[in-house]
Amino acid sequence: MLAKPKKMEIKKECLVCKKDATEIPITKFYYQESHFYICPQHIPVLIHDPHKLIGLLPGADNMQAG
Ligand SMILES: [Zn+2]
Repeated sequence: MLAKPKKMEIKKECLVCKKDATEIPITKFYYQESHFYICPQHIPVLIHDPHKLIGLLPGADNMQAG
């Protein structure tokens, strides 16, 4: 009988492609009251096309493309 401790923790996986840190490098960023993870492949989306993250990242509709 294995009792795993349950943590309400954001998984260390890219919020876009859902790959986790065992597969690809993942970077952490802070936004509003929370933090998120994203892979290098999707950092440009965060910078240039944040509207593509609507539905994935809370508040993305308020972000402006850099
Ligand atoms: Zn990704």
